[in-house]
Amino acid sequence: MKVYLGGARGSVPVSGADKIKYGGETFALLVEGGAGEQILVDAGSGIQRVVDRVRPGATLFFTHTHLDHLIGLPLLGGVWPRQLVSPRGGLSAILSRVFSPPVWPVELPAGDYPEPRTSLTVGGLRLRWQEVAHPDGCLAVRVDEAATGAAVVVATDIEWGAMTPDAQDAFVAFAHQADLLLFDAHYTPEEYAQYHGWGHSTWTDAVAVARRCSVKKLWLVHHAPERTDAQLDQLSALAAAEFPGAICPTVQTADAVFNMPE
Ligand SMILES: [Zn+2]
Ligand SMILES: [Zn+2]
Repeated sequence: MKVYLGGARGSVPVSGADKIKYGGETFALLVEGGAGEQILVDAGSGIQRVVDRVRPGATLFFTHTHLDHLIGLPLLGGVWPRQLVSPRGGLSAILSRVFSPPVWPVELPAGDYPEPRTSLTVGGLRLRWQEVAHPDGCLAVRVDEAATGAAVVVATDIEWGAMTPDAQDAFVAFAHQADLLLFDAHYTPEEYAQYHGWGHSTWTDAVAVARRCSVKKLWLVHHAPERTDAQLDQLSALAAAEFPGAICPTVQTADAVFNMPE
């Protein structure tokens, strides 16, 4: 299994000389199985960094439908996914509201909209998901590859501090021993004190969760729009000191690609 990160930013796409290394694009991830099967997780503006790898017939899984997770959809025009999946339901109606004049002049392309209840199989990849704390709701998703035993867990929008101990335990069991965990690191602990209920976690939450889940690697994602490259360098070093294997992946370089097993 290979994992390619397209965008590591949260909330809105940003740009600027101080946001080159970690990119300004919102969340998008491509997971590719050994047989070439492809799953996109969310369609933020970071789709532009992975779209050249996407082939017709891919599956697009939505953790949720906040704007920052679907704003890159028009970029998939040439390789529109075969199926678009939201187990939370109502996806085609939601996307039709966006792909509709005067919001957007292009009609929603045709595709399948399955609403699987507990899991979904795409080639040799199996997806499972779990509700996490986030305004309007959001799913964490786990992709397992039976042939290699590889597993990636994506928890891009999650407020760890708003989850009950039981919900936290359930998440830990869900993400147990994944090779790679992508986790929401939107706020610093100092910022979070002012943003309880806004739906996001901190890098210290991410590190604590990675430890409890016994994952091998941790990618911090969904960075706040204002976070600069220098600040993310610092955050990446702090996290790595606490949890070997933790990084803020720099989307320009090879550390935004993960091969499993390594
Ligand atoms: Zn988001
Ligand atoms: Zn969200």
